[in-house]
Amino acid sequence: VSEDGLPPLRDVIARHDLAAKRSLGQHFLLDLNLTGRIARAAGPLRGVVVYEVGPGPGGLTRALLIEDAERVVAVEADPRVLPALQEIAAAYPGRLDIVQGDALQFDPARIGADRLRIVANLPYNVATPLLTGWLTADAWPPAWDRAVLMFQKEVADRLVAEPRSKAYGRLAVLTQWRCAAQRLFDIDPRAFTPPPKVISTVIALSPRESPLPCRTAALERVTAAAFGQRRKMLRASLRSLDRPPDRLLEEADILGTRRAEELSVEEFVRLARVYDALTPER
Ligand code: SAM
Repeated sequence: VSEDGLPPLRDVIARHDLAAKRSLGQHFLLDLNLTGRIARAAGPLRGVVVYEVGPGPGGLTRALLIEDAERVVAVEADPRVLPALQEIAAAYPGRLDIVQGDALQFDPARIGADRLRIVANLPYNVATPLLTGWLTADAWPPAWDRAVLMFQKEVADRLVAEPRSKAYGRLAVLTQWRCAAQRLFDIDPRAFTPPPKVISTVIALSPRESPLPCRTAALERVTAAAFGQRRKMLRASLRSLDRPPDRLLEEADILGTRRAEELSVEEFVRLARVYDALTPER
């Protein structure tokens, strides 16, 4: 029996016959010390509702409840794990809502909590589209005030990357435009059952109250063009846009001989705003 009076996760997995499915990115964290560390990184959870993506057999879910989350709303694609999750719900009456379905189709804003936080050990195959969906929401600041998320290290590196580094690209610009991003700690593959091939990294995102104003779609356009040919000078790479590159660059006050990876987030926002101000050609 564990600290919460529930059976150890290894027994839960055996009893419900939950062989991990690779297609769902299933790598379960069975060590309650680690799940506790992730839950605590979300900050004091009293009075906070947590949205968890992919609870699986519920290791992190249990840690969130032990850390006093007022309620956990857990969206899980795999129906096989529901009986295991229902046992946790029964041990914490009224505090665990289980939603079976695809998190890509679930808008956290619809949870309707006063204080909402996202905490998840994300399935690798949908981690980036999920994050991009949250970051490009029309309404900002979003319903959540902090997200603590585990990614494969290589993706985490891209979220927190600074200009002039190899990992700096569209994802870094989008993430850092709307959030302050912080790398927290790495987790060894051996901590998971089954172990993934890569190191995992937990990061924290705090939504910026007032990101530099620009239209999300315009920012995505200019970063796609610029990083689509990241080794070229901007006056060449921006030719793929339907605006004259020379005017774009001149009005954004950016030298055409610079390259995508040298530009700060603020400079990309400037480009996106000039992009919207200029008339399309062609
Ligand atoms: N939270 C558990 C843990 O920490 O041990 C499991 C994490 S495992 C890396 C990812 C979980 O996400 C799996 O349980 C998987 O079934 C679920 N999942 C995969 N794709 C999903 C999707 N599109 N929507 C919701 N859950 C998904």
